[in-house]
Amino acid sequence: MGMVAPFPIPLAKICKFVDPASRLNCAVGVDTALRMGQLSTYSYIIMVLHFLMCKLDRPVIPSLQDLYSDCSSPECFYNRNHGLVPSFFDNKIENIQVRFHDCVRVENRKTNVYSTFDSDDTDGDNHYTPWYSDNNDNLGSLFIDFLDYFSVKKNFKRISIICDDGDLVNAVEKDWRQYYVGIQDPFFTKKNIARNIKYHGLDNVVEIFSSAAHLLRKGGSFQDICEM
Ligand SMILES: [Zn+2]
Repeated sequence: MGMVAPFPIPLAKICKFVDPASRLNCAVGVDTALRMGQLSTYSYIIMVLHFLMCKLDRPVIPSLQDLYSDCSSPECFYNRNHGLVPSFFDNKIENIQVRFHDCVRVENRKTNVYSTFDSDDTDGDNHYTPWYSDNNDNLGSLFIDFLDYFSVKKNFKRISIICDDGDLVNAVEKDWRQYYVGIQDPFFTKKNIARNIKYHGLDNVVEIFSSAAHLLRKGGSFQDICEM
């Protein structure tokens, strides 16, 4: 065997499994970013979703948790799953509700492009629920807008993928005031997944995002900002 480089320590420790209640594919790992007081990859994903769902005049994607209180698809995960899932947080177990719509097909009315859906069988019981976007921005401009939005420190205070979340507003006003970054766990809504971030960590992210947006506007490439 050739082209194999031994590493003295593991780069990542990951355990993969399927959650029996939600049927979600899960991966639990030790994120070195968390230990170093930096944002985790999970946090960055929530930031991207938050921006595309909640911070554009014409959203690109819907929030699958608060989109509809009900939908017409009996097979939708939102309708099938009413049970609670035990979750461990702050040294105690709490039951949380894990529900979201997996019946949605995103349809863009400007471009006539739509997302795929497992069962596009509109005649059967498992039909999709359409959600319409009127956003016509290209990926490059969306990316620069994303960098611009998170070049402002106060925009890190309340990040969620449930756009009208009263729980988050209350949490930020009460329990989360001491944190520099507030990113709400999508299901365990009391949990701030970025509570380990210190001032210098946030400062660093804001500076990099701001520089990257500036470089792209000057004509820099994606590779240029990756090498910053
Ligand atoms: Zn649904």
